[in-house]
Amino acid sequence: MTIKTKLIKRPAMTFWDQLYFPSVFRGVMITGGHFWRNLFFHIMHQLGLFKAIRAAVTIMYPEEKRDLASRLRTRHRLTKRADGSPRCVACMMCETVCPAKCIYIIAEEHPDPNIEKRPAKFDIDLGKCVYCGFCVEACPEDAIRMDTKILDIAALSREAMKLDMEELLNPNPDYARILDKKR
Ligand code: SF4
Ligand code: SF4
Repeated sequence: MTIKTKLIKRPAMTFWDQLYFPSVFRGVMITGGHFWRNLFFHIMHQLGLFKAIRAAVTIMYPEEKRDLASRLRTRHRLTKRADGSPRCVACMMCETVCPAKCIYIIAEEHPDPNIEKRPAKFDIDLGKCVYCGFCVEACPEDAIRMDTKILDIAALSREAMKLDMEELLNPNPDYARILDKKR
């Protein structure tokens, strides 16, 4: 089999190309134009003017937050029954399927004879979690979800990355910061 090759000639550089300065100057003009424009509108926004005109195409996080897709996996929560107790029946499916081995459950007998077990302890270590969502998919009780819309999980300590059952039942976006402050 013969392979046909096509030779493409590189166009010769013109005198202006070889100078480089026109291209550098054009680049500086474009970057500088954006910089001064954005600076001007940021200052105007601080003064309460031209609010309808965006100062930059980037989102000014964390002051400004974008809408999240409804199916985005965010921090976990445990769902509740009508009486406020966890729906979880401590079947250990999520703990077993978790590839990061970051779910820790201790089961105990449920006082209601119709329900076999409940979690006495349910912790998730977000420092190890890979946000795969397997725990949500494996749960037969719809007891765990990743729909809190909480994205900020950074913390100053590994301890602050661990969510306990109380936190999972009542998700607080400032959880890590509160724990960090207590240290
Ligand atoms: S999202 Fe994945 S890694 Fe994180 S706790 Fe669930 S199963 Fe484990
Ligand atoms: S899979 Fe669901 S019911 Fe089973 S232990 Fe996990 S959260 Fe609880």
